[in-house]
Amino acid sequence: MSKTNKRVLFINPTKKRRTETDRVHLGFCLLGSILSDAGHETRVLDLSFLQHVTDAAIIKDAQWHVQDFRPDVIGISVFSFLHRETVVLLRELETIWNGTVLLGGPHFAVFPEDFREFPNVDYVVRGEAENVILDILQPNTLTSNPTYIDAKPTNPDRIPRADLSVVYGNQHMTVFQIQLSRGCNYQCSFCSVHRVAGRQIRSRRIEECLEEIIAARSEFPAISNIVITDDCPGYDSLRLKQFLRLMAQSCQGVRLYIDNMRADIVDEELLELYVAAGGENICLGAESGHPEVFKKVHKGESLEKIRAAAGLVKKHNLLLGLCFIIGLPGDTPERHYHSVRFARSLEPDYCYWNMVVPWPGTAVYKWYEENGTVEDQRNFTTLVNDRAQFDSPICDSREFPKRELIRAWLIANMETHDLLVNPIALPKIMYLSIKYRILGSFLAYCIRLLRSPSKFMAFINRGIQIRWGKIRSILQGVSNK
Ligand code: SF4
Repeated sequence: MSKTNKRVLFINPTKKRRTETDRVHLGFCLLGSILSDAGHETRVLDLSFLQHVTDAAIIKDAQWHVQDFRPDVIGISVFSFLHRETVVLLRELETIWNGTVLLGGPHFAVFPEDFREFPNVDYVVRGEAENVILDILQPNTLTSNPTYIDAKPTNPDRIPRADLSVVYGNQHMTVFQIQLSRGCNYQCSFCSVHRVAGRQIRSRRIEECLEEIIAARSEFPAISNIVITDDCPGYDSLRLKQFLRLMAQSCQGVRLYIDNMRADIVDEELLELYVAAGGENICLGAESGHPEVFKKVHKGESLEKIRAAAGLVKKHNLLLGLCFIIGLPGDTPERHYHSVRFARSLEPDYCYWNMVVPWPGTAVYKWYEENGTVEDQRNFTTLVNDRAQFDSPICDSREFPKRELIRAWLIANMETHDLLVNPIALPKIMYLSIKYRILGSFLAYCIRLLRSPSKFMAFINRGIQIRWGKIRSILQGVSNK
């Protein structure tokens, strides 16, 4: 390696037992590809992904990687819900290492001035870093500390292929993520995607995407799950259908998932192609089942469309997921229970009930500024773990105070979301049911569970999986000593 070539360590922090995932940070793999092509050496340390890996032998902390890899540059991906963990990591790095620190990630789309007070941060990239990463590695780019760089959206023809070889622990990857396009031209009231990826759709060539998937599978045969993570994958349903057709023809034996599906593009042909391409589930963003609340979301589709799409998903024997948000503008406890009834009427296989997060720059944020209270969005996550650990809401209104939001969340989960209630979480759910005076819902849930042998077995299996995962990692830790 020549002197001008750099060693770059990318780190994705994690929240212990909250942000575990089987997906590796896609953005880092794309940057890794650009850096490798230019002769730099890259390592991606995704601590959220490594939480998912049960091989204790490869679990090393950031400090170990700094000593082992000896980077010239460390890039950290900042998600707002991992703000605290990023701060801790920066403080730790300050004491052990003295190279160039670069921050980027979706956090800066909503908090563009953050991290000014950290003397060891050299660069903050706002926007997509692909266009600027090589310039940053040039000597003497720095003008102030930190230097904020506003990166332009990447031209779709210049979005590189993900380089998985740079991922630490890549032998444990079973999932490959890919974006066929970036950006979304809808204007849902709660969504901040336009600040991250823009409203203009940037489409990649689907043949190129398919080649990338095939190449990734041939290099890493353990990959058996392909996830399309576009902001709005169905903006052009003909194009999506063509992609599915090609997937079915040339990429057999995989499970395919598409994030962020809209109901208005779901039709018979799309689902037939999706099943043929390995699709197993569809999760529809319903947001609210109450007509007045739904209308204010400005989703650009209707509840009737969502109902019809849900019916088609079930007709094609796909698992049906639904995604709702509690506490949207105009929501009240009564309207929320209407939403729960709507959800149940669609007979979903699983449901996500997310607490509303008013992101700066969204209509929901403006509404809460005028009609309620908003606390700091940093460090809040809607993710819930197997122990039913969840964050308290960060906003409320006179119509939907915090205590009611939590009650609403608990009831909705017990009514529709069997995954949350497992033997490990059960004592906590019972305690919360007493605290929030919804013991009736808890008992109704238990009765439903006991009456359905398949649900009961799933409940027990989930408990065994959680306990076995823990025991296995302890045993591996002991045998590796
Ligand atoms: S369609 Fe999805 S990505 Fe687009 S604005 Fe709505 S929620 Fe955001």
